[in-house]
Amino acid sequence: MPTPTRSPLKIDSAELRLIRLKLLNPFTISVGTMTEKLFPLLILKSDGLEGYGEGVMDPLPDFLEESIPSAMNLMREVLLPAVVGHSFANPEALAPLMTPWRGHQMTKATLEMAFWDLWAKSLDLPLKTALGGAGEAIPVGVSLGIGPIEQTLERVRSHVEQGYKRIKLKIMPGHDIKLLEKVRSAFPDTALSVDANTSYSLADMALLRRFDAFSLDYIEQPLAWDDIHDHATLQQRLSTPICLDESIRSVQHARHALQTDATRIVNIKAGRVGGHLESRKIHDICEAYNVPVWCGGMLEAGIGRAHNIHLSTLSNFRKPGDTSSASRYFARDIVHEKLEAKDGLMPVPSGPGIGVTLDRSFLDEVTVSTETFSR
Ligand code: MG
Repeated sequence: MPTPTRSPLKIDSAELRLIRLKLLNPFTISVGTMTEKLFPLLILKSDGLEGYGEGVMDPLPDFLEESIPSAMNLMREVLLPAVVGHSFANPEALAPLMTPWRGHQMTKATLEMAFWDLWAKSLDLPLKTALGGAGEAIPVGVSLGIGPIEQTLERVRSHVEQGYKRIKLKIMPGHDIKLLEKVRSAFPDTALSVDANTSYSLADMALLRRFDAFSLDYIEQPLAWDDIHDHATLQQRLSTPICLDESIRSVQHARHALQTDATRIVNIKAGRVGGHLESRKIHDICEAYNVPVWCGGMLEAGIGRAHNIHLSTLSNFRKPGDTSSASRYFARDIVHEKLEAKDGLMPVPSGPGIGVTLDRSFLDEVTVSTETFSR
């Protein structure tokens, strides 16, 4: 699809907030437990319009190497001063001010995605249309954190009954085979996957090969976050497809993984790979290799969740994503619109841009700090 065009969009000002939302339930994965969601929220303003981006980095570098302090610093010191007061014809035009800075894909994504929202609104287009996607709803599954096996079984049952189209179980060494035996015997036909969040190594080959007995859709990120090579070695010995998440932070990583058969499915998170443009490049190269993609989640609040839903309307998002109902995570969200799945389908918010509006009074309640940028 040709990229829509308009006259350059001038960024009048920006607001960078740090938001703290309490999670309804602690969320445990192999690297730790989260009890609250702390995240940067970026608001770009232009001629009466606002574009929103939500950072997915953690307070400390425990998922990838980025952290909230490093993100806030890069935003404050270089990215926002380079954007505010300047004009950009399209999202591609942001690249020159971001490429000099190494890494920091999550920080760059926060800015890039806020611009996409603003730009789509200026064109009076839903983000999905600006991205080249289509459709009124996307199929979604759920990701269940680590907990006692009996409790996990109950949670699987409840989400299967709600119609979610895939159940993903977080696993780690010592919390894997027994869990899978119980869940698979109780739910023989449910689409099931596991996510190890980097907690195994090739020394666990014999154990990982036992996963083939459970008819899993895929094993997500079994090995190190910065590794592709060992995943290729592992894939040769497994019949279950490997799906990379943490290891894919750019289209180059995706190409390396596809060329070496280190991944047969890819989890795309726009917030992890630098934003929507890089997501689209990864989506496209996976499509060329006939490798399906799906959209992962980082426990996003309403802004990040809405971005994920729009991105998931691209054609090669052929597996159910992690963008489940916001009410599974938060008692109250920062947007007015309810992002709730029904029978495993999440409606795409309508209206220009990401199609959600900020609940300003609640936002003020949960704002830890606000910095404004203007010139
Ligand atoms: Mg994952």
